[in-house]
Amino acid sequence: MSLETDSLALLPDALATLAAGFADLPEHVAVADIEALRPVLQSVAERMQDNFPYQHPLYAGQMLKPPHPLARLAYMLALWINPNNHALDGGRASSAMEKEAVANIARMVGWGDEHLGHLSSAGTIANLEALWVAGKLHPGKKIVASSQAHYTHSRISEVLQLNFEAVPVDACARMDLAALETLLQSGEIGTVVATLGTTGVGSVDPLPQLLALQEHYEFRIHVDAAYGGYFKLASNLAPEAAAAFACIDQVDSIVVDPHKHGLQPYGCGCVLFRDPGVGRIYQHDSPYTYFSSDQLHLGEISLECSRAGASAVALWATQQLLPLEPGGEFARDLEKSRQAALTLYQRLQQDPEELALLAPELDIVLWGPRADTGAEISRLSQQCFDAASEQHLHLALIKLPASLLAAHWPAVTFDSDTVTCLRSCLMKPEHLDWLDRIWEIYKSVRA
Ligand SMILES: *Cc1c(COP(=O)(O)O)cnc(C)c1O
Repeated sequence: MSLETDSLALLPDALATLAAGFADLPEHVAVADIEALRPVLQSVAERMQDNFPYQHPLYAGQMLKPPHPLARLAYMLALWINPNNHALDGGRASSAMEKEAVANIARMVGWGDEHLGHLSSAGTIANLEALWVAGKLHPGKKIVASSQAHYTHSRISEVLQLNFEAVPVDACARMDLAALETLLQSGEIGTVVATLGTTGVGSVDPLPQLLALQEHYEFRIHVDAAYGGYFKLASNLAPEAAAAFACIDQVDSIVVDPHKHGLQPYGCGCVLFRDPGVGRIYQHDSPYTYFSSDQLHLGEISLECSRAGASAVALWATQQLLPLEPGGEFARDLEKSRQAALTLYQRLQQDPEELALLAPELDIVLWGPRADTGAEISRLSQQCFDAASEQHLHLALIKLPASLLAAHWPAVTFDSDTVTCLRSCLMKPEHLDWLDRIWEIYKSVRA
């Protein structure tokens, strides 16, 4: 395997263009002692060999997707300025690019110019902001999310000193509506977190039905689409998931992680609010920063202070090349990931040695090697995971509650509360073309 380096040839020209913008300053170059850097950089490269090959299609395990070469370049280019998107004083151009990139994500979810949003270091802080706002608007009320929601929601609630409760899931690993309604009847619920694309199993909560419940109960809806958000653009979702994404514009706040499915380097989450009025909740005075412009400084509407402007630059560049349009190249690549997941699922279903689980709603596939007991499935899953890794096929494992599996695997005896299963996130468009190879390696280690 080699690494893509051809694109680096574009960097010197782009840096020259960047430098031209500062041509009228007196000459000043911070000199680097190249020969002193060389051995250190070489040892960094050697240290970095100790990684799974995330960029290779045979890495089909956790939720990891390589950044686009353009995102990498734009991020690097921005480092010569090293903008800070806290304030316009720290990054004028990159703040403007952030506003445009965020507006594009808002447009993707169906919102016009009337929204409030910004990038963040990650999905966790983006969700924290959404729940912080939710807590301010419904003081003393509870936050609920499904038992398959991201583990950070309960911890975020703890940090914010908001009560949190997990809602059980149904057999499809989606939030159980009857259980939710019982909770709503208590009158204690302020906000329901709907996950469109759970991190573990990729399930999509039933958003249309949640919205219908708002006719009878008063509560906010926050959508955590950190992983799943971009599937709004995909045309090959099953009807239930498609229906959920179709009404995403009716919720109060949304989180999407460009560093999950949006081809970005880490350090790029995004939170959006439908009502720009929530900006007043953020209001604060920084005695040092907001002087260079009367325009909105992103730090005035975010909880984080310093933030990598380079993330905004990389995202903006990627959106120029691959606009967030249904039917466009970016959307077609997501459709390929989903197609890869469906194809793998079908193979597992047709194979008498395997136990497929849950038709994939997005691009995560779950299964267990067929056995009579939960304990044996756990043992075989671990064994296959290790053996596949020896053959350079990297899968993931997930511990799932026996209660979820029992409905799907009636012939299995469950001797413990959880079973370790195999999991694969087929997030790279290349996974579709590599599926035969992935299957061949997996079946060879099963034999
Ligand atoms: C990844 C993920 C998060 C957390 O986001 P980070 O960017 O890892 O902080 C939250 N919710 C969901 C659904 C996720 O997939």
